[in-house]
Amino acid sequence: MNDTTTTPSPVDPAEVLAQALPYIRRYHGKTLVIKYGGNAMTDPALQKAFAEDVVLLKLVGMNPIVVHGGGPQIESALNKLGKKGSFIQGMRVTDEETMSVVEWVLAGEVQQDIVGLINAAGGKAVGLTGRDGGLIRARKLRMPDKDNPAVEHDIGQVGEITAIDPAVVKALQDDQFIPVISPIGFGENNESYNINADLVAAKLATVLQAEKLLMLTNIRGVLDRQGQLLTELTARQIDALVEDGTISGGMLPKIAGAIDAAKSGVHAVHVIDGRVPHVMLLEVLTDQAYGTMIRSH
Ligand code: ADP
Ligand code: MG
Repeated sequence: MNDTTTTPSPVDPAEVLAQALPYIRRYHGKTLVIKYGGNAMTDPALQKAFAEDVVLLKLVGMNPIVVHGGGPQIESALNKLGKKGSFIQGMRVTDEETMSVVEWVLAGEVQQDIVGLINAAGGKAVGLTGRDGGLIRARKLRMPDKDNPAVEHDIGQVGEITAIDPAVVKALQDDQFIPVISPIGFGENNESYNINADLVAAKLATVLQAEKLLMLTNIRGVLDRQGQLLTELTARQIDALVEDGTISGGMLPKIAGAIDAAKSGVHAVHVIDGRVPHVMLLEVLTDQAYGTMIRSH
């Protein structure tokens, strides 16, 4: 993917403050689901800015909920164990040993790091996996071959969501806590499933009827064939971009989740550039648009 254009510079601070009031008023008490991924998750300065944004949004009366990814961290843990991750059609093949690595890296390490960062910024974060409070139920994902649907790939403990029970998230947010969720679901026999974090964030936003779904990533947004940013996308345009291969890899589940959420009543769905410091504040509290807005029609 050709990413040539420079990212916009953050707007003048006084300007931002002057613009913020109507947005604070509009979004007071509203739920904001944030998918935290990409570079914003690995660069220390961006991590700190992210945590500050989450705390600020909470302090002005919004209800931010964080769902995190962790692909690079899982990859490096697997490498340390001499294991190499393998992928079929963009999905990580998750055998039993890989699943236990996924679980301890996401829930034990990445999630707790985020909880620590938010708390250091003055918030009260609580880490959860899909097992906590029965939050995310899942079953094994059946994945047909993309060229020959009669053939099914076995990719192990990769799950698809069957149900979300948001009670625990609601209880926490009503109590001034900020939920930080690892994308792990559990099945009928209490087995664990590795679920793409974009899909968890999107489904959670739908179930909670969130005001906004913000997906932070490692690129400016959805790009066209020439590497130009697409600032708005409808379901029909998305179908065409998937069809001709312009949208591929990790952008596929992200866009699938985004369009699902937009169609299911989440008011604003944005894929935004996690490499821009404080991009969330800029997106929520200023007039300026960042990244790609996904529209249902
Ligand atoms: P994350 O889930 O952490 O945000 P992913 O790597 O899963 O990151 O997904 C983002 C990646 O999707 C981009 O870095 C880019 O390589 C890829 N991608 C594929 N098609 C597109 C597209 N049309 N526009 C932008 N990124 C795309
Ligand atoms: Mg991804």
